Amino acid sequence: MKKFFQYLVIIIFFSIWGIILRNYTIVRDKVQEITGINLPCAKPLQYAIGTVDPRFNLSAGDFLADAQDAEKIWETQSGKNLFEYNPNAQFKINLIFDSRQLQSNEADALTKNLDQLEVAHNQIVTQYKNLSGTYAQSVAKYNADAADYQKKLDDYNQAVADWNKNGGSQDEYDKLKNKKKDLEDLYTQLEKERLAVNALVGKTNNLASKEQGVVNEYNANVSTYKNKYGGGREFEKGLYDGTEINIYQFKQPADLRLTLVHELGHALGIGHVDDPSSIMYYLLSDQDMEHPTLSAEDLGALKTVCKFK
Ligand SMILES: [Zn+2]
Repeated sequence: MKKFFQYLVIIIFFSIWGIILRNYTIVRDKVQEITGINLPCAKPLQYAIGTVDPRFNLSAGDFLADAQDAEKIWETQSGKNLFEYNPNAQFKINLIFDSRQLQSNEADALTKNLDQLEVAHNQIVTQYKNLSGTYAQSVAKYNADAADYQKKLDDYNQAVADWNKNGGSQDEYDKLKNKKKDLEDLYTQLEKERLAVNALVGKTNNLASKEQGVVNEYNANVSTYKNKYGGGREFEKGLYDGTEINIYQFKQPADLRLTLVHELGHALGIGHVDDPSSIMYYLLSDQDMEHPTLSAEDLGALKTVCKFK
């Protein structure tokens, strides 16, 4: 009877052991889940897309594509299967709209405004140049016409003086009368020209002050931009909080992808590194935005965290 129980215990022991061996991964995951001990990189980190705030104007599908791009950057360079998309995964990547993106949108609007002001400024400068050219021509013409008028007036006065002194025919008298009428018309014309030249001066001055106004507005916008949005751009645009990744801000797809690559690194357990061109540097700095590449430092950190040989 005692022997029977001994055999029974041995049989039960090996049965359980067999079950454990057969279901090793399930058991390991269960152990991980219960103890909270994560064996880093032992299996791909499964992720799903969670909240995608519509104010970003990015579909969940596009957001997933960006996350998958970011995933590939880690996997291609390390040669390891580190992440896996699984719509049912507990680990979520979210796109959360808050003051950060609002600020980013405001910064964009300010940049657009600066571009518009620059266009307006260029237009004013062109107008000013054209007007200055017209003014120079008008002044030259006015001076020539005024000199011509003066000469004709002098001739007329001389002829009148001669006529008064020496007398003359009725015919000469009538000619002088006609000349006087012509001179009066010429003077009226000249006066019109003078007023037109003055108007041009007014217009040119208006344009000059308009140009100054645009320059002032431009400079004010630039200093607003510097005060509000200048300085280092820390990777606070995204956050890995231990259970999920939240992305809060991006300007363009490349910007979003780089932040995703950085936060995925944190999700693997990698901290910040020192090289400003590294993905895991704490600032968005010297990294190649268009072609994000893991630096030797990033790969070294991955190796250390994941205990890759
Ligand atoms: Zn970070």
